[in-house]
Amino acid sequence: MKGSKQKRLAHAIRKQIRMLREDLLAFVQDLVRIPTENPPGIRYAECVKLIAQRLNRFSIRTKILRVHTRAAGIRPRYCLLSSYGKGTRTVYFHGHYDVVPGSDRHQFSARIKGNRLYGRGTADMKGGLAAMVYAVHVLQRLDIRLPGRLCLAIVPDEETGGRFGTQYLFKHGHIKEEGGSAMLMPEPTGGAVWNACRGAISLMIRIKGKSVHVVLQNKGTNAFEQMVGLSSALLKLKHCVERRKTNFTVAPGESRNSILMLGGMCRGGANFNIVPDECSFTVERRINPEEDFEKEKARLLNVLDRFRRKGMRLEIEVIQEGESVGISSDHYLAGVLVNSIKAISGRRPKFYMCPGLLEIRYYLKRGIPAFAYGPGLLTCAHSPDEFVDIERIYDCTAVYALAAINLLSGDNI
Ligand SMILES: [Zn+2]
Repeated sequence: MKGSKQKRLAHAIRKQIRMLREDLLAFVQDLVRIPTENPPGIRYAECVKLIAQRLNRFSIRTKILRVHTRAAGIRPRYCLLSSYGKGTRTVYFHGHYDVVPGSDRHQFSARIKGNRLYGRGTADMKGGLAAMVYAVHVLQRLDIRLPGRLCLAIVPDEETGGRFGTQYLFKHGHIKEEGGSAMLMPEPTGGAVWNACRGAISLMIRIKGKSVHVVLQNKGTNAFEQMVGLSSALLKLKHCVERRKTNFTVAPGESRNSILMLGGMCRGGANFNIVPDECSFTVERRINPEEDFEKEKARLLNVLDRFRRKGMRLEIEVIQEGESVGISSDHYLAGVLVNSIKAISGRRPKFYMCPGLLEIRYYLKRGIPAFAYGPGLLTCAHSPDEFVDIERIYDCTAVYALAAINLLSGDNI
C-alpha cells in the first residue's frame, strides 16, 4: 500500500477514534469494575456479557462458548468469538479478560488521575481488549471492506495457563490454522512488539503430614518442617539456574536471567499448637529459549522425586506449562506491523522477547505469525498501582484498525 494512502487511512482512523474517546474510555472502566480475578476465575459470565453487548450494539455478531469444566471441579468458563469481514484469510485479534487478583477492592474502582487510568487489569489487558473491540468498530464506521476476515478471540484463564481458554479454542477447532494469516494481542508491551516469549512450568506442591497436638508431635508428621528441607534443595537449584542469561533482547534488562521462584502461593497449618498436616507452595520456573525445556523440567522434577523416594508424601499439580517460541523480527508481517505502528505513532517500535509466557505460543506453534503489541506497561502490570496511559489506549485502537487492513492485505507499505 502506498505511503499516501496509508497516511489518509491513518488520518481517517484517528478522526473516528477522536469521536469515540469517551465511549471507549467508559468501556474500559466498566471492564475494570468487573473483578474477573484469576485465580479463582470469578465474574466471567458478567464480563463476557458486557463485551458481547458492546459488540452487539455495533451490530457485530458474537458467539459465546460455554466451556464445561465440571470434571475439573471449577466454575464454567466462557470464550467469546466474533468476526468482521469475509474470506478465507483470517487475522486474529486475541485477548484475555481475566486479571490477576487485586491487592484491595479499591483496585476495581477504575479511577482516573491525570492522563492515567488506574486499576487491576488496566494494563493487563482490559485497556488493550477495549482497543481491539473498538478497532473493529472503527473499521465498520469507515465502511472498510477488508480483504479477508478479522476474528476476535476473547478468552479467560490466560493468567493460569489457558486450559479452558485458548487451549480449548484450538482443541475444539474454533481457531484453525488454515487461513490463519496473523495474530495480534494487546499484552502490556509498552509500545514495543514482543515477538518471542520464555517457556514456563508452574507447579503447586502439596506436602502431606499427620496432624496431632503439639505435645505429641513425635507421633505426627510435620508438613511444614518437611517443606523447609525441600525448599532448601530447590533454592540450591535456583542459585544454579538463575546464573544463566538469555541473549534475546528483553526489557527490562535485569530480567534476562533464567527464573526459579518459590512461594508465589504458600499455605499450611491450622493453628500454632497443632502439627501441620499439609503445607503447599508454588514453584515458578521460567525457561529461556537457550535452555532445553524438557531437560529443565526433568531437572526440577528430579529434586521432588528425590524427596519422594526418601518417604515424603508429595502431590504435584502442574498449573501451567508452555515452551518458549519466537518469530523473527525480519518476518515480512513483522515489517507490516512496524509500518502500521509507525503510521500512527510516528515511531519505529523495538522488538523484544517477553520475559513471561505468552499466548502467541499457541498460534506460532501452528505456523500462524503472532505478535504482542499493547498500550500497558509490563513494569506496572500485576502490581498494586497498575495503570494505563489513556492516550496509549487510543493509539493502540488506531494501530489495531490499521494493522487489520495491512496484515490482511499482506502489504508491506
Ligand atoms: Zn496478560
